Amino acid sequence: MQVHAHPDDEASKGAATVARYHAAGVRTVLVTCTGGEEGDILNPAMDSPDVRQNLYEVRMGELERSAAIIGYDEVILLGYRDSGMPESPANSDPRSFAQAPLDEAVGRLVAAIRATRPNVVVTYPQDQSGYPHPDHLRVNEISEVAFDAAGDPDRFPDAGPAWQPQRLCYVRWSTKRMRAMHDKFLELGMESPFTDERLGRLLRAEEAERDGVAPSTPQVVVDVTGFTAVTREALLAHATQVDPTSRHWFGLPPGVADTVYPYEEFEVARDLTESGPSVDELFHGIEPADAEVGSGRG
Ligand SMILES: [Zn+2]
Repeated sequence: MQVHAHPDDEASKGAATVARYHAAGVRTVLVTCTGGEEGDILNPAMDSPDVRQNLYEVRMGELERSAAIIGYDEVILLGYRDSGMPESPANSDPRSFAQAPLDEAVGRLVAAIRATRPNVVVTYPQDQSGYPHPDHLRVNEISEVAFDAAGDPDRFPDAGPAWQPQRLCYVRWSTKRMRAMHDKFLELGMESPFTDERLGRLLRAEEAERDGVAPSTPQVVVDVTGFTAVTREALLAHATQVDPTSRHWFGLPPGVADTVYPYEEFEVARDLTESGPSVDELFHGIEPADAEVGSGRG
């Protein structure tokens, strides 16, 4: 199970990993917390009054196509409204994810976990300083609490029979991938999307990792060779949100982009398995037999 804030986050984060495990027979579940109603239309070709007026419906259609491309077996909508960027008026909308009582939002995620019985839950890290969107912060908050609460029959007794996932992971925005991409653009004599501010941020992140300032929790690096094209295709399915001329996402020729850094990185936040995590396998120590027949691993 991956928990994401908005339609399109499932495409930009961890998509190739889901595609890989889905192809191997793992049952995959996407939880999308908001409808993305506050998203800017970032693709000029899609900016029409009609699209603006029906943004929720349009984005739900995009989400459905993206999830099918990635290989999600099930999509669960948590049903909250997009809280908008920090300091925007949408933050105070009572229907927004940010305004929802924590317990209520946790309860909805607990119900999703109990209904689909995932062994591994992937969510966002606590540190969202790179992109402090209120909905992304909330995804972390509710996932941390729901991971424990789902397995406790005394909590949210009306949300279905208790189910305890075995591992909670944070999807990481990979510094190594950014570096590999930047270097590849330069090597090919192309203009890199990592200019000025973004390159500065990359350099600071690399420095933090070298100095060990970055969290020293166990890392899982998943080899997604053969599945990287899924990320591009799923992003393109979000036609209103993703500019098809984006150099970051589509600048490198596909054959090059597929091999420049075919890995996705996760941080292990919680591990209840006997074996503990391994460096390259999200499901290490979790046998398919541990999962209920019919529901599969997830
Ligand atoms: Zn988002």
